[in-house]
Amino acid sequence: MINPFETEERAAFRRTLQDFIAAEIKPHADAWDEAGEIPWDLHARIGALGVWGFGVDEHYGGLGFDDCFMRAAYSEELAKCGAGGVSAAMNGRSISIDPIQRLASDDIKNRVLADIVSGRKGSSLGVTEPSGGSDVANMKTSARRDGNHFVLNGQKTFITGGMKSDYFVIPARTGGAGLGGISLFFIEAGTPGFTRTALSRKMGWWCSDQATLYLDDVRVPAENMMGEEDKGFIAIMQNFNLERVALIAGMLGMMKVCIEESITWARSRETFGKPLISRQVIRHKIADMSAKIDAVEAYLNMICWQVNEVEMPVAEICKAKVFTSKALEFCASEAMQIMGGAGYLRGNLVERVYREVKVMAIGGGSEEIMRDLAMRQMGY
Ligand SMILES: Cc1cc2nc3c(=O)[nH]c(=O)nc-3n(C[C@H](O)[C@H](O)[C@H](O)COP(=O)(O)OP(=O)(O)OC[C@H]3O[C@@H](n4cnc5c(N)ncnc54)[C@H](O)[C@@H]3O)c2cc1C
Repeated sequence: MINPFETEERAAFRRTLQDFIAAEIKPHADAWDEAGEIPWDLHARIGALGVWGFGVDEHYGGLGFDDCFMRAAYSEELAKCGAGGVSAAMNGRSISIDPIQRLASDDIKNRVLADIVSGRKGSSLGVTEPSGGSDVANMKTSARRDGNHFVLNGQKTFITGGMKSDYFVIPARTGGAGLGGISLFFIEAGTPGFTRTALSRKMGWWCSDQATLYLDDVRVPAENMMGEEDKGFIAIMQNFNLERVALIAGMLGMMKVCIEESITWARSRETFGKPLISRQVIRHKIADMSAKIDAVEAYLNMICWQVNEVEMPVAEICKAKVFTSKALEFCASEAMQIMGGAGYLRGNLVERVYREVKVMAIGGGSEEIMRDLAMRQMGY
């Protein structure tokens, strides 16, 4: 579809990404996913294109401006490499950059932000706990004040990039029960009492690492509290919005993989003496996939415009995330069906997308939680 908000700068940014991803990522994505990791220098090479600099001051290595369309273009184009683990491996850091930029002390920002934004160092956001990820307000990890320090105890799990990151944004309970008692902390790997173990044997995202983090009397200076005491819940919720926009854009890229692979296959595959693409049943599947892709693209463009020009459309982002994960589920299933047995084989892009649908429907706010939040945001 035509994007009425396209500009020369946005188109150029997308082309640069497309060229880089086609040359440097797509040919290797399958092998990296099978091997369970991406080369670390890829972070810095794609970081040099400015992909993590949106909304970050130039002083800290950022671009000095923000643009939701460019953020979305990055997520969509990277997802088109066909291995969600590549995106996850590199973008664990992206959900921690905004809180560090907005809320960390100048000293911390001066020390770490340029390294994170450039891709030289990794960072992660650790919200989810073994006792649950949806009910953020009920988190158990605690931070007790002790003179000029805080002492943290608890566990975080499913933390993307957690095994490799140097820096972590960790919410913990400083006050009473519920959403009013949570504060954010900046924690460095290597701090005594901080340990981690890898989550293994995942359904997808093989080349990204997810970790369980253990905080046993982790002592950090009081200056490591990010933002105001007991105001961390709001910061976490605000941070989710752009994470969800990125997930929507990533799912759009995955849907495009599904349709492109389907069309390529259906044109070359003959059954009963005719190309599959000539069969009405197959044509309808592709038309339905295409309509869903158009709908997501139009929805995403309107959201990006509103983020840039008006205010964060929280309800629409939640609704669009559910709408898109359902649309992706449809496209992955139909693409697999069109490909028949070939789609079931490892090494096929559709096979991987099919396995990676669920993490998109659960991570960053599950479909159920997104619907609930959308309803509350709409005033019901
Ligand atoms: C690969 C991967 C990477 C991840 N990366 C990160 C990361 O970097 N940082 C991080 O903090 N987290 C991360 N997560 C965690 C993710 O955000 C959580 O899995 C998600 O928020 C859901 O939490 P949960 O798994 O604890 O499910 P639960 O909260 O236990 O919920 C289980 C199910 O019940 C549903 N449910 C819950 N409450 C209700 C309700 N009131 N009504 C109806 N249904 C309900 C949920 O929708 C879900 O389907 C990652 C997860 C995965 C799988």
